[in-house]
Amino acid sequence: MAFDYDLFVVGGGSGGVRAARVAAAGGVKVALAEEDRMGGTCVIRGCVPKKLMVFASGYREMFDDAQAYGWSLEAGTFEWPRFRAKLEAELDRLEGIYRKLLEGSGVTTYDARATVKDANTVRLSTGEEITAKQILIAVGGRPVVPEMANADLGITSNDIFHLETLPKSILIVGGGYIACEFAGILNGLGVEVTQFYRGAQILRGFDDEARGLIADSMKAKGVDLHCGTNIVAMEKDGDGVRVKATNGMERVFDQVMFATGRKPNTEGLGLEEVGVALGRNGEILVDDYSATAVLSIHAIGDVTGRVQLTPVAIREGMAYVETVFNDNPTPVDHKLIPSAVFTQPELGSVGLTEEEARDQEPIEVFCTSFRPMNHAFAGRSDRVLMKLIVSRETRKVLGCHIVADQAGEMIQMVGIAVKMGATKEDFDRTVAVHPTMAEELVTMKAPVRTA
Ligand code: NDP
Repeated sequence: MAFDYDLFVVGGGSGGVRAARVAAAGGVKVALAEEDRMGGTCVIRGCVPKKLMVFASGYREMFDDAQAYGWSLEAGTFEWPRFRAKLEAELDRLEGIYRKLLEGSGVTTYDARATVKDANTVRLSTGEEITAKQILIAVGGRPVVPEMANADLGITSNDIFHLETLPKSILIVGGGYIACEFAGILNGLGVEVTQFYRGAQILRGFDDEARGLIADSMKAKGVDLHCGTNIVAMEKDGDGVRVKATNGMERVFDQVMFATGRKPNTEGLGLEEVGVALGRNGEILVDDYSATAVLSIHAIGDVTGRVQLTPVAIREGMAYVETVFNDNPTPVDHKLIPSAVFTQPELGSVGLTEEEARDQEPIEVFCTSFRPMNHAFAGRSDRVLMKLIVSRETRKVLGCHIVADQAGEMIQMVGIAVKMGATKEDFDRTVAVHPTMAEELVTMKAPVRTA
């Protein structure tokens, strides 16, 4: 049977666009449908605008630091509308680049919602039906809010970039990546930030010592963080939202933001009807090759509920093309993925936490926490943390956790060594780069504890 395309990609985010481009570059006839803006979560409403906001918010402290270093200057005020206009222009530019890249690779794009009609047919919101030998689902996910009365009074990370004005006060609910990053960003931009996290400590899943230092630093910088706390009730109060909390607090906030997790965008796509199996959270169940239960349908990225990170989606997209179109079965390696949380200070992390490693095998823990010279000179109390988890048997570095400005940049490099299976002695053999913070990673002599 002749199909309209060899490959139809549903979703124009990081994973979908990369798979489409790489396949098309290899001579595959590809189409891609995106119902919203090209670029997806990462470019339009996630990593990219978030990181630009992290940069914007960092300037507040830089003015004080500059003075401490001898510069005479006064901090002005942050003008959100001015920043937002530039941000929007930048996102337009990036979206344009994504479109050009697709066009340049010969991918046909449809600005429409696509649903799956059968194993080889998609139906567009325009009414058009298109056939393809292969279908790739890369529709990503979206923020979810808790089921509670008046939850619609709250916003999510999708809305934050579009606010007309910055609120004077905000309550952020959640203790994950998004909640902690936006608590720092908005605090830095001058918003009075309160954060509720229902558990005992923010950033569940990361190394306990690192979590503790991040929480302390966030509080020291002005975030009013309440762990073990959640919303009991919320209602409209004038232009704000009145919140009653489990800790007895009752307060009106200008805005409430839920950063309480994300959900795969699989509703109404027609997937289950054609035999694609979904998991409990609605994620598409796939094997190591991103194959679903239907031979001609694969899925990559956040919609599969594996690791919700752009570079992972990109790899899954490239491995998919290798497997399906280049006759070279390529599984995606999801082990030892370095990542960063863009809190202030940042958290960079790769491999096992101390808690995970301790449960697995005997370990040595090398750790140091200190005031870096730039902050010490400026009179700041900010501390950094450098931590290595080492196997007592193999001497391999099982995990590395860094809390510091630019920890994201550092962990990218450490990630290579850890992925290569470097031992503590390999780290020690490497000459320090002086004076830096990261030099501590190669100069820690004795373990602080064994377990
Ligand atoms: P996370 O799953 O990281 O965090 C969700 C948070 O909300 C958790 O603290 C969770 O608590 C809490 N929560 C969940 N349900 C409720 C509820 N009903 N009431 C109160 N609190 C609740 O999700 P995020 O939305 O922050 O981020 C989603 C994913 O996006 C991340 O896992 C990450 O992979 C990716 N991401 C990556 C970034 C990066 O690389 N820098 C940046 C942003 C996102 P509990 O811990 O108790 O479950």
